[in-house]
Amino acid sequence: MLSVVVPCYNEEETVNIFYEKITKVLPTFCEKYELIFIDDGSKDSTIDKIKHLRENDNRIKFISFSRNFGKESAILAGFEKAKGDYIALLDVDLQDPIELLPEMYKAVKFENYDMAGARRTSRDGEPPIRSWCAGLFYLFMQKGLKIDLKNGARDYHLMKRDVLNSILSLREKTRFSKALFPWIGYKTKVFEFKNIERVAGDTKWSFTQLLLYALDGIFAFSDIPLLFMSFCGVVFFLIALIIACCLLITQDISWKILTSALVIMFLGVQMLCFSVLAQYIAKIYNETKNRPHYLVREQSEDC
Ligand code: UDP
Ligand code: MG
Repeated sequence: MLSVVVPCYNEEETVNIFYEKITKVLPTFCEKYELIFIDDGSKDSTIDKIKHLRENDNRIKFISFSRNFGKESAILAGFEKAKGDYIALLDVDLQDPIELLPEMYKAVKFENYDMAGARRTSRDGEPPIRSWCAGLFYLFMQKGLKIDLKNGARDYHLMKRDVLNSILSLREKTRFSKALFPWIGYKTKVFEFKNIERVAGDTKWSFTQLLLYALDGIFAFSDIPLLFMSFCGVVFFLIALIIACCLLITQDISWKILTSALVIMFLGVQMLCFSVLAQYIAKIYNETKNRPHYLVREQSEDC
């Protein structure tokens, strides 16, 4: 059986279009499947649309959160409920091309791959600043953190049950699935496609949310920001030493003005370093509280 996990947040405009399309494609390559919709605390009629679809199709299951817990929690919930031998994860807005599913399934079932992933090779339609920041982020993940996370990598995956179990064994609270997939390893076939615009509705991510999500990814996968703090410490100590020597030798007043300016700058850098440290402390705090990843308000009885 194939389990298809679909996170949804305020997607009343896309749920039906998605259902129409996926129920045409799935029967072409697999006999048995379940569709698990996760309503991530939507404020619109998403859950009603899902329930309506379920009235005529018992392959549809759903979980509805008590509030919006974020896509990562929705993904985790769907993975926990999936009963299939193969599990697929894709967005409901049709930005993950459903036509790739048969090939992804073939790769995992017949071509000795454990997992199939997808990557968009273009970002047409996206604001340039967003694409530029994304490029920088992926470059840092690859070169800085040595994580094999290609620019444009999607959450869109199809995997074997063993792979899913490995993902489920990672219980951290700050989840960054995009990088968890390459982190667990396994033989992965990547499918590439040109960017597709949303079929309806709007993106749920503001620029700030994306930035915070990217920072979450960096902090969750590396202690390089802490090394950066040590680096700053050494560099500024050396600068201070040089200025002190110059002051002693020249007795020049302009050195004093420069020193004042630098002291203010050092304070700024110190604040930055503290904030990096605070990020790690906040993450530890979050982990130790051990709160659940999500709370369920309602779910289908077979879920
Ligand atoms: N989503 C979710 N919870 C959220 C935000 C988004 O479940 O808090 C779902 C959303 O319904 C969609 C997928 O995650 O199925 C991707 O979201 P979106 O299309 O807004 O992101 P983008 O494609 O713009 O990165
Ligand atoms: Mg989208």
